[in-house]
Amino acid sequence: MNNSHVSPGSFTGTSPVWLKEPDDVNDLMPHLWSQTAEKRDGDLYVGGLSIPELVANVNTPAFILDEDDFRSRARAFKEAFAPADVYYAGKSFLCTEVARWIDQEGLCLDVCSDGELTVALRAGFDPERIGYHGNNKTAMELRRAIIAGVGRIIVDSFDEIERIGAITAETGTPARVMIRVTAGVEAHTHEFIATAHEDQKFGFSISSGDAFGAARRILEHPGIDLRGLHSHIGSQIFDTAGFEVAARRVLALHAKIAHELGHVMPETDLGGGFGIAYTSQDDPKPPVELAAGMREIVTQECRGLGIEEPHLSIEPGRAIVGPSMCTVYTVGTVKQVALDGGHTRTYVSVDGGMSDNIRTALYDADYSATLASRTSDAAPVVARIVGKHCESGDIVVKDEFLPSDIRPGDLVAVPATGAYGRSMASNYNHALRPPVVAVKDGVARTLVRRETVEDLLTTDLG
Ligand SMILES: *Cc1c(COP(=O)(O)O)cnc(C)c1O
Repeated sequence: MNNSHVSPGSFTGTSPVWLKEPDDVNDLMPHLWSQTAEKRDGDLYVGGLSIPELVANVNTPAFILDEDDFRSRARAFKEAFAPADVYYAGKSFLCTEVARWIDQEGLCLDVCSDGELTVALRAGFDPERIGYHGNNKTAMELRRAIIAGVGRIIVDSFDEIERIGAITAETGTPARVMIRVTAGVEAHTHEFIATAHEDQKFGFSISSGDAFGAARRILEHPGIDLRGLHSHIGSQIFDTAGFEVAARRVLALHAKIAHELGHVMPETDLGGGFGIAYTSQDDPKPPVELAAGMREIVTQECRGLGIEEPHLSIEPGRAIVGPSMCTVYTVGTVKQVALDGGHTRTYVSVDGGMSDNIRTALYDADYSATLASRTSDAAPVVARIVGKHCESGDIVVKDEFLPSDIRPGDLVAVPATGAYGRSMASNYNHALRPPVVAVKDGVARTLVRRETVEDLLTTDLG
């Protein structure tokens, strides 16, 4: 994380070192935006539609989902990793129509709650191609998943093994499971940490022997089919070095279970976490490069261990939906705030905030933004885009160059908000969660409507 700040000479304010003044502040930086996004006379267009005209109807804030972009990213992962299976991580963003797109593009789907499973089944998604995650699935959730015929349940605790064993015995319906293991690798962005121990709630540790013990316990249940091991090492990862260490440890355990327990597991899942570009700092690799790297790692390790290569699967969420959505806000107020050293910071307040994008507050995440409703000849200033919530940490974009004449009524758009934006949205301050509007070939379709005050009052019994 780059938190060092410098005082640039050409304007007042402070900004991080990586943030470079653009040649023309009106231009989009193409690799941050979905593929059909463009500027025409200062107006942002996505899917062939003028975003200012669109939000005149649907209002702001709004998530705009570029359908062609989403589908082509899903397809790119599917094709690059074939014959491996690609499970789209539904927690990044899921609604009924998006589940259909995933199905139509031939991907599989991960869910991690009864709510997500309900949406998937409502979309007609084949349960065989659904994976079910979670460190504390209830007996009710497990029973429903098993009866629905979910293709694999990723088991996370000894308690869960007993719970699944009891359900399969009682219902006579078998369950297919994978063991979530922690390989002692934690990867984020450009670095990974490899330790022997993991202090976290997910999974069974390989190094402590718990993961092996889980396999032994599962094999004692006749109704449970142990399909393989599962490892997920982090998020916003840009290279395959962390996956290499994790794969080595995971595949060694495959071999140990085969030798000592006589059970050959046919599958391995190496999880998700592939990074995307939020700002000019980020330079993600295309899926073909990731796929080639991961294939080679698995092939080499299996050859070294003398075991057959298990069928591989991966679980990208952010890398598919992240870049395909942007959020459009209306500017409400602009304030110059005096800082130490004679600097000022321009605070641009918009009509959403941490209720539609918690990532800046939660992870100190960086985002970008552009003026989306006109061109400006005014000199650029480094602005901070903040929300309307009662919380000083309610920041959407920490630092971005915007025209210095930015004013109330302007639209600003923030790219790469598709993952963990709407899906982590809250009703803080009784905010109404924004809609998701899909655009394609000049046509807009609302997939998730804006909440209303009636929606809020429905659960408040008065
Ligand atoms: C969150 C998660 C993913 C998806 O992560 P992304 O960073 O969105 O790719 C995949 N697998 C598991 C187990 C996860 O928890």
